[in-house]
Amino acid sequence: MSNKTIALDAFLYQYMLDVSLRESPLLQRLRTDTARLPNANMQIAPEQGQFMGLLVRLMRAQRAIEIGTFTGYSTLAVALALPSNGQLIACDINTEWTAKACQYWQEAGVAEKIELRLGPALATLDALLAEQPMGTFDFAFIDADKDNYIAYYERLLQLLRPGGLIVVDNVLWDGKVVDAANHEPDTVAIRAFNDHLRADKRVLLSLVPIGDGLTLAMKQG
Ligand code: SAH
Ligand code: CA
Repeated sequence: MSNKTIALDAFLYQYMLDVSLRESPLLQRLRTDTARLPNANMQIAPEQGQFMGLLVRLMRAQRAIEIGTFTGYSTLAVALALPSNGQLIACDINTEWTAKACQYWQEAGVAEKIELRLGPALATLDALLAEQPMGTFDFAFIDADKDNYIAYYERLLQLLRPGGLIVVDNVLWDGKVVDAANHEPDTVAIRAFNDHLRADKRVLLSLVPIGDGLTLAMKQG
């Protein structure tokens, strides 16, 4: 036993999945279907999708937004957890990947909850800030280009209601954040993002070591 977060080797990780993962057949199929793509490792982990779905249900979120959709796994995990009148705005720039996503959303029967906005997400967020009252979103997920993480976060914080939650992926960046010799732009951007949140009094914070590291930031109200 320890008062530190446990490190998972392959066997313990598999055990964790064996006793807790409840991935629907459709989500499983989306995972194997995506695995054939060269960028398959961009997809979130299945236990992470399950965790995000649980958060959405705990919060009774109705309005959600996602930055970085890819083939739609995280979108689907969140949309399935929203009520039937829920709404999820999915932002991405890639038409090919999101076309696959749309097929799965249709098949899952959640397509009417999801509005895909194709284009640079910063422009989409600026349009949302201009077109709707602030503070109407309950839940946001950031999982796109890392150098815009701070810019996405700042805009989403305005769009979020007090008590709303921003969830941010890849904050441990495969461990590269602590490799002092690593100065890759994405690594530098993730470090800057983590530093940006470290002392941000506008949010309550928890970094959960699930997947590639997931930060939860709840807007204080
Ligand atoms: N959440 C997804 C994975 C996202 S991968 C899943 O669960 O599968 C990152 C995505 O960000 C890619 O699909 C990429 O097209 C998108 N992206 C990259 N730069 C972007 C930008 N400037 N605006 C919107 N989307 C962007
Ligand atoms: Ca990711």
